[in-house]
Amino acid sequence: MTDKRTEEIASRLSTVRRAIEKAATSAGRIPDGICLVAVTKTFPVDDARRLVALGVTELGESRDREARAKAAEVADARWHFIGRLQRNKAASVARYAEVVHSVDRMPLVAALDAAAARAGRVIEVFCQVSLDGDPGRGGVDREALPELSDAVAAAGSLRLSGLMAVPPPGADADAAYADIARIADRIRARHPEASGLSAGMTADFPTAIRYGATHVRIGSALLGRRPAHLG
Ligand SMILES: *Cc1c(COP(=O)(O)O)cnc(C)c1O
Repeated sequence: MTDKRTEEIASRLSTVRRAIEKAATSAGRIPDGICLVAVTKTFPVDDARRLVALGVTELGESRDREARAKAAEVADARWHFIGRLQRNKAASVARYAEVVHSVDRMPLVAALDAAAARAGRVIEVFCQVSLDGDPGRGGVDREALPELSDAVAAAGSLRLSGLMAVPPPGADADAAYADIARIADRIRARHPEASGLSAGMTADFPTAIRYGATHVRIGSALLGRRPAHLG
């Protein structure tokens, strides 16, 4: 596809890639060590196709129904599920998602593990931690994180990739990401294989990279603004 929209996305993508490179380099990190997950939620499947044509291999979605439909049409990407996950959606998600960033409670570990086994795949899992304990936004309390990470590590069809976090709204980015980095260190001490840190969105990904993010989940910087009620 070479149309106006593709050109727009190409230009946004190169801006984002440059910003990732700059943040990584100035933190003394290798830019290739940072995985860009392009978040396509609310945008048409053609935008997902355009991103893939532009060389993006990792795509993220936060609702099962939308994700499932897009993944069926764009099979040459690796799909990441990044949103709140209901237990009864685990079977569906396990059919198309190679990575789930939002595992935040024990019953979900069991459900996703069983679903992955049935789907004949091993799913990479990030445990999502809540910094402020707000139950509305997802994430396990930090006190319960060790037990959750142990369960993921022990699950036969899941692989523990690391920690995922979203700073609370209005939080100071530096303070929040310093906190996230400390929690990530603690998980790594317990599970050396959990080397990933999924953190950083359009508003704050350079800060997240400075504090060790290995996976940044970026939507609006690549595709434009979403309607607020769908964000
Ligand atoms: C929507 C979403 C993103 C991307 O947000 P942008 O601000 O558009 O980059 C990242 N992570 C999660 C969990 C999301 O729901």
